[in-house]
Amino acid sequence: MPLTMSFVTTDRCNSICKTCNIGKRYLEDPSVADGELTLDEYTTLFRSIGRLEWVTFSGGEPFMRPDFPEIVARLAEIIEPRVINIPTNATLVRATTRGVAKILSRLGRSELVLNLSLDGVGPRHDDVRGFEGNFALFERAVDELKKIDDPRLVIGVNTVLSRFNVSEAETIFDYVLERVAPASYVVEVAQIRPEYHNQGDAIAPLAAETAGAIDRFVEKSRMHARRGIPRLVRAFRRKYYSDVRRELVDARGHACYSAFGTCSVMPHGEVWSNTQRADVLGNVRDFGLDFPALWFSAGADRVRDAIRRERCHCETSNVAYTNALMNLGELPKLFYYYLRDA
Ligand code: SF4
Repeated sequence: MPLTMSFVTTDRCNSICKTCNIGKRYLEDPSVADGELTLDEYTTLFRSIGRLEWVTFSGGEPFMRPDFPEIVARLAEIIEPRVINIPTNATLVRATTRGVAKILSRLGRSELVLNLSLDGVGPRHDDVRGFEGNFALFERAVDELKKIDDPRLVIGVNTVLSRFNVSEAETIFDYVLERVAPASYVVEVAQIRPEYHNQGDAIAPLAAETAGAIDRFVEKSRMHARRGIPRLVRAFRRKYYSDVRRELVDARGHACYSAFGTCSVMPHGEVWSNTQRADVLGNVRDFGLDFPALWFSAGADRVRDAIRRERCHCETSNVAYTNALMNLGELPKLFYYYLRDA
């Protein structure tokens, strides 16, 4: 059974980001979100899964689903993972703060990491996200969420470096680290993914410029003490940035544990190896919402055989953390970053 799972709960989104076409696709045809897994179906599915360490819930914009907080709360009660991670575009301030309060009231001992997207400072953010006023809403969301006094809530920021903002990367890093001062800050490189429906789009920043930005980010973030995020998580992040930097300069591929240690459940029930490779293991609806029946099926085994044979590479952070944890050869590097941070 997997250690970590991602649930992509909806194809609904209200932004038209330059790096992702989920919102554009939905706004052109809202029926793409018809027939998504229901709350009852999620509940049955969660009951079949058993234990998970780390769960990510995403979209689309997950808080566009009115029942989203209830879905997360049910998973927290049934599975009790160590960490629940939710990325959001921070446009639905009231729905998000109310939703977070509801989730916290039923969270138990799990930690809730809410990652707010920020791809620029001021109007640049609105431009990259295709949403006028998004930057002001981001600042309001941070203020409102910081009023929630609960040690289990970790407020994070997520920046995607693309050709639309990499030249201003340092401005974004300074703003986030000094003005927002989140407990967690993740920087990723824009990716072409089936999940984002952005195949063929020119979004990638230049490799040399991105490697320089990652170096500056690692240097700056080292100087800012982190609250809330354990040292072990920081070690995973350090290793992730070092891998991303290496792959940018010299893509060699690596052992991938998608479909072994992690997978993604898509809005209509398909289970993918991850949101980048997008190999389909099956659909939970075809297995009566019994996750182990799908996970140990012949179709899932075929996907695992293919992944074992290939050496692919990607910069998907969730997958990178799982790979680092499951690959014994990588553990000494993790240990090195853990000690160096002391
Ligand atoms: S990146 Fe997020 S907010 Fe932007 S269009 Fe895609 S799903 Fe929506």
